[in-house]
Amino acid sequence: MFNPNESSRSSTVRISNNFDKEIVLINDYRDFDIKKVPLYDALVLDFTEREECKKTLRSIRKSNIESIYLLPIFILSIVDVKDAEVKELSDGIVQTIQPESLSAFIDGVKRKRKQLKPFTVNPEINRHLIKTLRFAFTRDRVLNPIKDRNSIIGYTYPILSLSLEEEQAKSEINAIEEALDKEFFQPEFVDRMHLCGNCYGGFLNYKETDPVSGSANLVTESLVHHFSCAYIGPQSDFIRGDQMVCPKCNKTLRHIGVDYDKPSVMYRSLDNDNYFQEPEMKAECMNCGLQNEIEGLVQYDVFNLTLTDKGIQEAIQPKGSQSSKEIVYNGYITYSTFGTYLKFEIERIKTANLPSCIGLIRLNITSQTEGILGARYDRLIEEISEFIVTNTDSANILARSINSFFILFPNSPIDKSEKKLKRLADSVNTLLNNNVKDVKIDVVSNHKELTQTSEYQSVLNDLRASILTS
Ligand SMILES: [Zn+2]
Ligand SMILES: [Zn+2]
Repeated sequence: MFNPNESSRSSTVRISNNFDKEIVLINDYRDFDIKKVPLYDALVLDFTEREECKKTLRSIRKSNIESIYLLPIFILSIVDVKDAEVKELSDGIVQTIQPESLSAFIDGVKRKRKQLKPFTVNPEINRHLIKTLRFAFTRDRVLNPIKDRNSIIGYTYPILSLSLEEEQAKSEINAIEEALDKEFFQPEFVDRMHLCGNCYGGFLNYKETDPVSGSANLVTESLVHHFSCAYIGPQSDFIRGDQMVCPKCNKTLRHIGVDYDKPSVMYRSLDNDNYFQEPEMKAECMNCGLQNEIEGLVQYDVFNLTLTDKGIQEAIQPKGSQSSKEIVYNGYITYSTFGTYLKFEIERIKTANLPSCIGLIRLNITSQTEGILGARYDRLIEEISEFIVTNTDSANILARSINSFFILFPNSPIDKSEKKLKRLADSVNTLLNNNVKDVKIDVVSNHKELTQTSEYQSVLNDLRASILTS
């Protein structure tokens, strides 16, 4: 057991131990000084003043300085600590201070820390992710997401989200996605969230609305079907005093199942007296106010994350993503390879003198519209992408850059290529109109003939520019 060192001030008590370690207990947080943290081997935070304790724990883990955020921290509490964030951020809850076991843990973290290699921060390295990896590695622990109503997603990984300031939700989602893409973690499914397509907010109000006015002020009413005259209308049309009388043939309705029935229910908007059968489900975001379509919500799974060997390597020596990889879409070559093909094609024209042209189809969509459509747009653009691949022949060379599709028509008459491009663009337009009715997405296209004097870079630039201004 321990004897608080008499010479220390009461707020920071050095725990005497036989391991020559600076283990310090803090029970008065008023003059806690974060700058002194690197001098300690471990901190024990008294949970009696729980808000102050949490604040101190957070401030240490929030730091980007390794000798601060990687410090072993234990929480001293005789009562059971239920706070999930405290559990995630600390290295354990202890009821009594036993220097032997603390010392063993401290040595473990020290050994792991010695392996960590310095790295220079460059744009390809997400230092928040590295911090998260290093925290998990030095402790050999699984990162668990915790339910957090202060996070707009509804879940956070405390060690990661503490470091993120701006656009926290988006940054957190991106960092975890990057880590999973690179297989730094082995994921174990915990929960599935549905988030706003615009801001990733998870606080959504699901409601049935009037498809015309958008009002949620709805009541339901039975539909009544009068057998003898075949009239169908809402029940309120039939009510006359305490009887039901058909508004069409004026006969009194007597027995359900015999002279009338109630085939279904209708919705009525109390705001505008509009009747309809299928209300539209909306998920209104309580953060940004967007009325999300249900299909437009972003599905986001949260996992318990266990470091993999790749994750450990990255924690030890961060490499980032090496080079900024270009996205390779199915059936397409990368934009830079496409440039090379184009260059060769122009060389070929110089000698063979055969007609060739290059076309571009682009979906003009604003980021606002993309936000409204959310995941629906992601699916749609993939469908369009596939459609273009299956509707061009193998002689055509395709490249895609997000919403732009480049098509090279080698060795083919210009008017034929032009017609082909027009047909493709029209089909894409039809596909869009059939799938998206609430917003308008323009499909624009243009082509350029390749000549002996063409220069591939300016051909591409001119083509891109021509559709932006049209
Ligand atoms: Zn009738
Ligand atoms: Zn939102």
